[in-house]
Amino acid sequence: MKKKIEIKSLNLKELQKFMESIGEKPFRAKQLYQWLHEKQISDWDEMTNLSKSLREKLRERADLIILDPVEIQTSKLDGTKKYLFRLKDKNMIESVLMRYKHGNSVCISSQVGCRMGCRFCASTLDGLVRNLTPGEMLEQIYRIGRDIGERISNVVVMGTGEPLDNYDNLLKFIELLTNEDGLHISQRNLTVSTCGIVEKIRELAEEKLQITLALSLHASSQKKREELMPIANKYDLLEVLGACNDYFKKTGRRITFEYSLVGGVNDSQEDADRLKDLIAGQNCHVNLIPVNPIKERNYVQSDQQVIQSFKDKLEKNGINVTIRREMGRDIDGACGQLRKRYTEI
Ligand code: SAH
Repeated sequence: MKKKIEIKSLNLKELQKFMESIGEKPFRAKQLYQWLHEKQISDWDEMTNLSKSLREKLRERADLIILDPVEIQTSKLDGTKKYLFRLKDKNMIESVLMRYKHGNSVCISSQVGCRMGCRFCASTLDGLVRNLTPGEMLEQIYRIGRDIGERISNVVVMGTGEPLDNYDNLLKFIELLTNEDGLHISQRNLTVSTCGIVEKIRELAEEKLQITLALSLHASSQKKREELMPIANKYDLLEVLGACNDYFKKTGRRITFEYSLVGGVNDSQEDADRLKDLIAGQNCHVNLIPVNPIKERNYVQSDQQVIQSFKDKLEKNGINVTIRREMGRDIDGACGQLRKRYTEI
């Protein structure tokens, strides 16, 4: 049997070409596109303005359902939901729904596994399996939206994987997600988080998108960053910060710096002092994340009072800081742990 095409990864132009290749009029592509991305139907027969014969052709050549929910955990504390999805090739990925006053936010995975090796992160323990396709990234959002029957207004690419290590698919995903004939999420409501792949940050800046770039900083000295994040051996701290600064200059979008606080490792007043010196005067935002301990490493969370004084130090120096509210504490293993539990069985 011929391999089916990944129809949800195609933009309108590609869909028009595909329609021509199966002997259909290209204008049908737009109708099909809207069924796939705006209405997000789950059965070909719902495409009522397409003929039965065309629907049959499509059924033979493409998969409509590419993710299969295996487990959904719901937090009793704040309604956060964690989804474990099985892909067509049986790989597993995780996504999270967070409910805020300002709307529903979904955190998606960009790869199966990850090869960046950050020391405190569960997603990287077994390395990278493969990149996700644009369709697989989108479908996480579509499935969650359908599950709760509400609109998803914000998307963060902060689940398993390094999005800039899957660059072309990421760009295609952004195009599809923000397209007016699809879910039409505003670029400003999309955040992409990276461990800091300098060439790719620079390439992304040239795209002049209005998305938010979040940099996983996690240390204020080169030496400590190298200890926590292997990618730091490749790119010097100042080089990464320089690329972020250029991103801001090119796009006008302020950078978010993520800083996971690890007890006794990167949470001292000296760490905070150095951080302030590194970024003071920049139009940025710091998001402090109390580390979520994973059983494979012996990292611990910083004390509440240490977290607070770290924050105070930055604030006193005019830096915009928030402490990430822990959502779904009762269901949440660290990022990547739900999937890991399944792959270990
Ligand atoms: N690869 C991307 C996006 C995925 S991780 C990146 O590195 O940014 C999303 C964020 O969660 C990153 O800042 C990452 O460093 C952080 N993170 C991962 N595991 C964590 C843990 N156990 N505790 C706290 N933060 C963690």
